[in-house]
Amino acid sequence: MAYDRNNIFAKILRGEIPCQKIYENDHALAFHDIAPQAAIHALVIPKGAYVSFDDFSAQASEAEIVGLVRAVGKTAEALGVEADGYRILANHGRDSRQEVPHLHVHIFAGQDLGRMVSVERKG
Ligand code: AMP
Repeated sequence: MAYDRNNIFAKILRGEIPCQKIYENDHALAFHDIAPQAAIHALVIPKGAYVSFDDFSAQASEAEIVGLVRAVGKTAEALGVEADGYRILANHGRDSRQEVPHLHVHIFAGQDLGRMVSVERKG
């Protein structure tokens, strides 16, 4: 899938729309999800133009990969959720119902998060 420069997270990165920033480094930005699905719900995105984890894992430089992974840890630290725990999740493509076509790692925390996957297995 080609990268759409007008997706909502590209606009946040360009400063065209605001976000509630939590953490930033040279390669990644973290902010609160606008429609939280847990008591704490943050997103960590690479600053580069990557559609999803599939794209990022194949094309990103090692510095970008390290920057994103470290940003997830630093964001959890900034949120103060390491002790009680958190869940990270990244959707890629149709079956995951990815909505925004710019890679984002969800961080869910602040409550018991229940079972890992809530769908019924098919096949
Ligand atoms: P996904 O379904 O994995 O693509 O998740 C997209 C996420 O982006 C959802 O959890 C949305 O609530 C979140 N989202 C959409 N627009 C914004 C925004 N402007 N600021 C923060 N989060 C957003």
